[in-house]
Amino acid sequence: MSDNIDVKIIDTSKHDDIKHRTKVKDTEYKEGKIYIRSINGIFTAIRQKLNWILMLGFFLLPWIPYGDRQAVIFDLAEQKFHIFGLIIWPQDLVLLAALLMISAYGLFLVTTFIGRVWCGFTCPQTIWTFIFVWVEEKVEGKFNKRKKLDQQPNTWTKIWKKGLKHSIWLVISLITSLTFLAFFVPVKELYIDFFTLNASGLIYFWTLFFTFCTYGNAGWMREIMCLHMCPYARFQSAMFDKDTFSVAYDAQRGESRGPRSRKKNPKELGLGDCIDCNLCVQVCPTGIDIRDGLQYECINCGACIDACDDVMEKMGYEKKLISYTTENQLEGKKTHIIRGKLVGYGSVLAIMSIVFVYFLMAIQPLKLDIIRDRNQLYRISSEGLIENVYTLKVLNKTEEDLNYKLSFSGLDEFEWLGVNEIFVKAGEVYTLPMSISADPYNLKKKLVNVTFTVEASLDNGEKVIVKEDTKFFNEI
Ligand code: SF4
Ligand code: SF4
Repeated sequence: MSDNIDVKIIDTSKHDDIKHRTKVKDTEYKEGKIYIRSINGIFTAIRQKLNWILMLGFFLLPWIPYGDRQAVIFDLAEQKFHIFGLIIWPQDLVLLAALLMISAYGLFLVTTFIGRVWCGFTCPQTIWTFIFVWVEEKVEGKFNKRKKLDQQPNTWTKIWKKGLKHSIWLVISLITSLTFLAFFVPVKELYIDFFTLNASGLIYFWTLFFTFCTYGNAGWMREIMCLHMCPYARFQSAMFDKDTFSVAYDAQRGESRGPRSRKKNPKELGLGDCIDCNLCVQVCPTGIDIRDGLQYECINCGACIDACDDVMEKMGYEKKLISYTTENQLEGKKTHIIRGKLVGYGSVLAIMSIVFVYFLMAIQPLKLDIIRDRNQLYRISSEGLIENVYTLKVLNKTEEDLNYKLSFSGLDEFEWLGVNEIFVKAGEVYTLPMSISADPYNLKKKLVNVTFTVEASLDNGEKVIVKEDTKFFNEI
């Protein structure tokens, strides 16, 4: 039997105040625009700090130089990714595949352990939404003022406030878009060409495209992306179990909810600890009421915990009426930290990380490919020698022009027909057609395993040697 938690609504109809709560939930928050109320607290502070770090990383990374280029750039035209000193070629794409698997299993592991914290704390959609809400609050005022402003007829005050807000949103979106493109196009060139109107049509197209994506997603779509478009929201419940930490309301402690005086003992009034202030709903970026139970819309951001802890403190009650907890804990049972699913995800993550490091260490600064003549296994020369034709492709994966020395082994006596020293420019492929000939009297087998070797000395004195095996065919 599966121990996954089904996303569900807790039936709280037994509580007297349900009418009032339903009214608030349906009319103010569920239908139409959500006016997020800002809040301070430990989880908000953690999220803000994390968001600062991620934002600085995103906006500054393209400006960090490495040698005579950008430290991080995905050069699509040249088909290579530069990440500081590391160059990833299409031949090394297994690395990216391993990285994607590491990210996926990392996400599964974290989600199984602590729910959708990725969504609440690090997802770009959440980060940009909070930035846009922050701008909205600075220009239009707190959530109740913003709501009032939206309900007002169009006055000059409303028009300039709306105009200013949307202009700032568009500027942020444009900078975001240019920063994103700067991971693919050299950043200085991009900015200069863009603002001097010398960029290509493609650059203008993608800049505008990503500008409007950012503006639309963070300004207009916001929680709609999380609620209706994000696939992760849909399959996360497959990772949840009764030991997954997620934001939850302690209904046993909170119900029956209702307003009361701070001086009164709630027990005497037949009330639980929830004063039904709705602050947890007002701060929720997805507009849900966590008191309705675990819902797939919840992004585990902890804003409702901050709001409720604040209320509990003011009321003189114990905090954590809403907290990161597990279903087992809420039922008074033991929470199991180490469990099969977690160990499974952790093991795959560890294996993939080892595979990634292995491939990373195995990256060679040069690559040798050998292509045999497909039309003829061998030919016999006018002198009666057996000749095998090969095409050697030497890829210089470094950022320096290099001389390469080629050699051959596997036959006792042979003749190399063609050049065996080549000069290959940085990042280029040298195609060398050549052949090996041998006297058939010295060949004892029809098929001989042979090896080509290519070697070069790098500027730093390091010697690189790559060997590649192939076959030599004989007429026997
Ligand atoms: S219910 Fe709480 S944790 Fe979930 S999204 Fe809303 S504020 Fe964030
Ligand atoms: S913030 Fe706390 S006390 Fe207020 S409604 Fe939410 S759960 Fe109840």
